[in-house]
Amino acid sequence: MVGLVIVSHSATLAAGVAELARGMGGEVPIELAGGIDAPEPALGTDAVRVTEAIERADRGDGVLVLMDLGSAVLSAEMALDLLPEESRSRVLLCEAPLAEGAVAAAVTAKLGASLEDVAAEARGALQAKVAHLGSDAVAPSAPAPGTGGATVTLSVRNPLGLHARPAARFVQTAGGFDADVSVTNVTTGRGPASGRSLNALATLGVRQGHEVLVAAHGSQAAEALAALAALAERDFDEQEPVAATPVPVAPPRSDEGSLTGLPGAPGTALGAARHLRSAAPEIPTEPASDPEAEWEALARAIEQVRAETLATRDSVAARAGEYSAAIFDAHLLFLEDEALLEPARRAVFDERQNAAQAWQAATEAVADDYRRLDDEYLRARAEDLTGLARQVVARLVGGQSAPAVAEPGVVIAPDLTPADTAALDRDLVRGIATAYGSATSHSAILARSLGIPAVVGVGEELLEVPEGTPLVLDGDAGAVYVDPAEELVRSYERRREQAEAAARQALASARLPARTRDGRPIEVVANVGSPADVDTAVANGAEGVGLLRTEFLFLDRNSLPSEEEQFAAYGDMAERLQGRPLILRTLDVGADKPLPYLTQRPEANPFLGVRGIRLGLERPELLETQLRAALRVACEHPLKVMFPMVATLAEYLEAVAVLARAREQVEQAGQTAGEVEVGIMVEIPSAALAAEAFSPEVDFFSIGTNDLTQYTLAAERGNERVAGLADALHPSVLRLVQAVGEAAHRHGKWLGVCGELASDPSAVPVLVGLGVTELSVNPPAVPAIKEAVRQVDYGAAAALADEALRLTSAEDVRALLAPKVAPIVEHAAP
Ligand code: PEP
Ligand code: MG
Repeated sequence: MVGLVIVSHSATLAAGVAELARGMGGEVPIELAGGIDAPEPALGTDAVRVTEAIERADRGDGVLVLMDLGSAVLSAEMALDLLPEESRSRVLLCEAPLAEGAVAAAVTAKLGASLEDVAAEARGALQAKVAHLGSDAVAPSAPAPGTGGATVTLSVRNPLGLHARPAARFVQTAGGFDADVSVTNVTTGRGPASGRSLNALATLGVRQGHEVLVAAHGSQAAEALAALAALAERDFDEQEPVAATPVPVAPPRSDEGSLTGLPGAPGTALGAARHLRSAAPEIPTEPASDPEAEWEALARAIEQVRAETLATRDSVAARAGEYSAAIFDAHLLFLEDEALLEPARRAVFDERQNAAQAWQAATEAVADDYRRLDDEYLRARAEDLTGLARQVVARLVGGQSAPAVAEPGVVIAPDLTPADTAALDRDLVRGIATAYGSATSHSAILARSLGIPAVVGVGEELLEVPEGTPLVLDGDAGAVYVDPAEELVRSYERRREQAEAAARQALASARLPARTRDGRPIEVVANVGSPADVDTAVANGAEGVGLLRTEFLFLDRNSLPSEEEQFAAYGDMAERLQGRPLILRTLDVGADKPLPYLTQRPEANPFLGVRGIRLGLERPELLETQLRAALRVACEHPLKVMFPMVATLAEYLEAVAVLARAREQVEQAGQTAGEVEVGIMVEIPSAALAAEAFSPEVDFFSIGTNDLTQYTLAAERGNERVAGLADALHPSVLRLVQAVGEAAHRHGKWLGVCGELASDPSAVPVLVGLGVTELSVNPPAVPAIKEAVRQVDYGAAAALADEALRLTSAEDVRALLAPKVAPIVEHAAP
């Protein structure tokens, strides 16, 4: 029997249509692909859901797919591409109206008709309604001469006209109806252009004060026009004021010419503004030998970039609000725009171009249209499109998709992923300034470990600084000076020379161990995320590695690294340490560190979802592979294993069982597994509060103050708007450190700190006073932290810690610590 699949933007609508059809079609297999995995209202369509629904509905006689509108059709097409060849030939996408078509199809399928007959019945299903109502009933207003269909004239009041955000709202609204919508710019005479294509709409050059004629055909023409008229009334939902001056604008500058952000990484930098852009990947020139396969590859690449863009959109929405995130809606629309897809499809099938060539040519043609527009703002959209196009091509041809700068200067970006930061060319990047982010966001941590001065969370005006503008960046104060006066430049140059001299001095004694004045040894080790970090750590006097963030090996690639690859990478780092100990933290991805190739269900609160050890236990094969590699390295080098994001003792014991399994597997393979100490990161308050229960089971604790602070104060670590709240020196966080310190001490276990707080010289006395004996810090910070340890008297530090615990705010703790610590030299150069 032929099966049916109902594809709708709304799960409720799909269920309703199925209910109607089942009433007529009895046992006909009807499967639903409605809505998307997202918080309510969850409207949208998802190609993977459609594929799964087709597979469920397929009983061997064929599947008829009925869709509602817009992207439902694209998702269904993409679903076809995802199906194996053999089942794809049994599937027919049908243009019939959804409700009427589904009922007619169910009735016919129940009779055992062929797929073609079921489709023909579905297509004819509107006839009864048309005959009954006649065509007059559809027309809401008189058609304008020459256009046919219904029309409405709208005035555009938005300061920048129909630029990306309002145009995206127009296209989204038009796409929500069963109507063909076209738009003509009455003021300039340009058009008509499709109202469902962001790119086509942009080429009309609609500015403030222009009038546009919107025409619609189809069963919901009247509804579409009414909705678009209402949207225009609401100024296309552009509530936030938009500068009337098109970009590039004069560099924003306050009285002192500075933009204020948050200190991201210490140090100062002078250089020209360099906006970060995706590097152009090399386009292959071989013709397509299998156009179907090329088209499928393109669909997959677009889908991957769509998922990445959605993730960026969501993270910007959470940090900076819906208005700022709306720009990514425009990017998402680019990816499903027929103005790009159709020429690319023709190039693949008719001209036999390969997928990368076809996509590149299609996007470049549209980007050229943008470049020819008078409107400076819209001309700048060509860059957005080119960047997005490069991401897709990078997915197709493999290799690095990380954006880059071509000339030396201060890098400017909305935000940087850890992969972007890691891929930066250290010879060109003098400093980093980001519009979003906070001091414990991973990009800031990486900047510190690379020794690149950084200012984060500066705000969107940073992005308007024109390319090449001279900048002074002060990573200690969290300020960026735009087009600075010569005097300011000179004073910063002097400051930098002094800092370099102080760093050289600290480096001279960095190789000696660090003991407090009263002789208590404190191990100063490093946090590393790359082989280069290990070299910097050793050069700066680190006594080992206290945190190896193994994510570095998993990021910016398309598949999981194999056991051998991991064995080689960890072994190489251990070699570079020349006998110094290495603490390997098992994979800590999820939340703010997603892996594009590890598909995870979207979560409303990813920071509270499946991340760290939870992912490792959900996918034990990942953890086993990593632990096998680690155990093999451990038989040659001093290596310890540490599990991240442990919330409960049960989780830890389960992880230890996985470790035991990995050991058995190594031995069964005839290889040797070394002995390892095992510990946990304390990053979740529940683990800190249960330290007494953990203590007999673990060999050590290492406190991850970055996450511990975010979970204690419920203040997201990458969010500049709550950065003031997320201060690791808050007494509540210190009390948790104290609880772990006391439990560890009672059981003879050692306690380290590997969160960013350990790299803050002013925090050293209080941490030592709370019983911490290991500080794992950014490699460039090792000399300064050793110096800080040497100035501590343990007895006095314990009294200081007691006093800090009695305070009620982070500000008070900072005030308490400030006078107790002599100014510490800046970090050494890497
Ligand atoms: C922490 O949370 O403090 C930590 C060191 O881990 P990461 O920064 O890698 O999450
Ligand atoms: Mg952490």
